[in-house]
Amino acid sequence: MRRSLVQPPDPATLQYDHSHLPLLVIGIDTVSRAAAWRKLPLTMEVLGKVDRRPDVNLYQFMRYHTVGFATVENTKALFVGSIPRYESFYNRCPHFAAASKGSFLWSYQMCGQDRVEDLYTPTLSEDWFQYVRTKRPTKDMFENRRPWCSAQLWPKLTTGAYSGGPYSITPRCLDGRVADTYGFDYYLDPEHQSPPPPVAVLWSLAGHEATEAVLSSIDQALASFISELELTRIAVLLVSDHGNHIGMYPYTTAGGWVEMSNPLSVLILPAQNVTGAQDEALRRNEQRLTTHYDMYETLVDLIQGVQGDNQTCSEYGRSLFQDVGARTVVEAGIKSGCMCEECELFTHP
Ligand SMILES: [Zn+2]
Repeated sequence: MRRSLVQPPDPATLQYDHSHLPLLVIGIDTVSRAAAWRKLPLTMEVLGKVDRRPDVNLYQFMRYHTVGFATVENTKALFVGSIPRYESFYNRCPHFAAASKGSFLWSYQMCGQDRVEDLYTPTLSEDWFQYVRTKRPTKDMFENRRPWCSAQLWPKLTTGAYSGGPYSITPRCLDGRVADTYGFDYYLDPEHQSPPPPVAVLWSLAGHEATEAVLSSIDQALASFISELELTRIAVLLVSDHGNHIGMYPYTTAGGWVEMSNPLSVLILPAQNVTGAQDEALRRNEQRLTTHYDMYETLVDLIQGVQGDNQTCSEYGRSLFQDVGARTVVEAGIKSGCMCEECELFTHP
């Protein structure tokens, strides 16, 4: 339910010691929940094993819903809590970003199209985190790691090219390895694990093409990566921004349309960091209508400790550490792309 916004905190007064539970976001662009089950069987098997562990809690949000059509709206909702113009929300809701100092984002998506050699091309990644206080790129705010902007991955092609590059229908390999594995190795490197970064985002484009065939190419590496994580020490969010909206599937089948609006969303938390009441709420929310706005508030809670109120400053989000209750799509902040015509499936209690 939308409420009046709280008075925004002064970013300069926010103090974070970065001693919160480290957060790892594994984002795979353009993967519905159903596509994950179809194309990532090894990863799903590993998640099943994780789910059965007594020392780790796994939550999968079945009715997780997009808040817009494309990557830009959904990732803004996920990482900063709202999707109006940047200037208007940076200072409104700086908690997550301010806590991200010393963290990093790894993504070959962020390679610029024209100036591959530039470290900071004007892409979404900067806007997510680096302009929060200064409106200028600052390495210490949120370091954008992208050492793999190779011409092998990013030849001079348009973003819609099928024959090569990070949006193609061919596997995205560097020196014989799937490009994402470099990000996994980067995170697991002992140098980056003592201590683990307070916030790390590994963003993959393996799902971002028409056929869904490329997604399978990361399955084995992703399954191994998750197996190697110390899940009692960190929080892990395995998430996508939206389902496949590139091929014909969403536009020619009802199931494809639903999938487009139902991205994968799985949260893994150390059991010792979750109270009984929070666990109960998270389990209930697995079957609630939930969105990236809600996940944003959940990430804020993870970073600054779960507060009494489950809405800090995003317009619509409600932390999933409390039961978000039955909401209409309007109350949840979903303005377009509703999964089904009347949205009844997602609004019943
Ligand atoms: Zn996307």
